[in-house]
Amino acid sequence: ATPTALMVGTGRGAQLGIVIKGPQVLESTRRVDTVVLDKTGTVTTGQMRLVDVVPADPDGAPDVLRLAAAVEHASEHPIARAVVAGARLGDDSPPVAVTEFVNAEGRGVSGVVEGHLVRTGRLSWLLAEGVPDPGASLREAAERAEEAGRTPVWVAVDGTARGVLVVADTVKPTSAEAVAGFRRLGLRPVLLTGDNARAARTVAAEVGIGPDDVRAEVLPAEKVDAVRALQDEGAVVAMVGDGVNDAAALAQADLGIAMGTGSDVAIEASDLTLSRGDLRAAVDAIRLSRSTLRIIK
Ligand code: ADP
Ligand code: MG
Repeated sequence: ATPTALMVGTGRGAQLGIVIKGPQVLESTRRVDTVVLDKTGTVTTGQMRLVDVVPADPDGAPDVLRLAAAVEHASEHPIARAVVAGARLGDDSPPVAVTEFVNAEGRGVSGVVEGHLVRTGRLSWLLAEGVPDPGASLREAAERAEEAGRTPVWVAVDGTARGVLVVADTVKPTSAEAVAGFRRLGLRPVLLTGDNARAARTVAAEVGIGPDDVRAEVLPAEKVDAVRALQDEGAVVAMVGDGVNDAAALAQADLGIAMGTGSDVAIEASDLTLSRGDLRAAVDAIRLSRSTLRIIK
C-alpha cells in the first residue's frame, strides 16, 4: 500500500502545480512547523518599477537617473531593471559605456560613467564606502518611501549622495491567503529579505505577519544563517524562495520550496517546485504531503 499512496500523492501534486523531487521529500514535510518566506519574488511579484526620483539638487533629477541607469544596465537585479526601464533605456537604446563595474551583492552596484564614479544601492553600503551623510532631507524622503513598503535606491556620484530613486514592488494578491493557510496548518510564517526593515514590516503587515517575525537587511550569504538560527531554536523549517541568493538557505531548510518562476539555481537547491508563481501552492504541498503520509501510516 505504501508505494501506491506515494504515487497518488505525487500525482495529485502534479495536478496542483507542485513538482516533487522524490518520495523521500514527503517525509521531511511532516514535522515542519515554521515557514520562512523570501519577500521579493515570492511574497511579492518581484516586478519592480520606478515610482519617484528625489534629487539632492532641485534640477538634478534627470542626471541622477541617467547616471544610475547607466550603471544598473549591467545588472540583472529587479531593482536594476526598474531603474533602466524608468530611465527609458530600452534594449534598443545603446547603453552608456560603463567601466570598472562592480556588483556588491545585496548592497548595490558601482561603475565609472563618463569619467564619474557612480554608486547605486543601500545607504549603509554607500556610507561604508566613505560617502558622507546625505543629510536630513534626503534621509527623510527615503524613510517615507520605506514606510510605504518601497525600496529607496541611493545614488552617489564621485563620493557624494546625489539623490534617491524609489522603486516599488507589488504584493501578490494571493500571498495573504497563503499566510493564513500556513497558520491553519499550524505553521509560523517568517519573512526574510535583504530589503530594508521598514518596507519589510509594511509588506509583512499586509500579508498578516507581525514585526517580530520579520528578518530584514539580511545579506545573501546570511540568509542560510537565518534559517540555521531558527533550526538551532528547535524549529523545523520550510523555506520558500525564488532567487539565486536564496539557494543556500533553500538547501539548508528541512524542506526547500522554489517558485517555478524563479532562478534555476533556486529550483535545483529545492525539494519541491511550485510550477505557478502562487504561494498558495506551498500550502497545498504541505497539506498534501501530510495527508499522503496519513494514508501510508
Ligand atoms: P532580496 O532579499 O529582497 O531578494 P537582495 O539581497 O537581492 O534582496 O538585495 C538587498 C538590497 O540590496 C536591495 O533591497 C537593495 O537595497 C540593494 N541592492 C541589491 N542589488 C542592487 C542593485 N543592482 N541596485 C541597487 N540596489 C541594489
Ligand atoms: Mg527573491
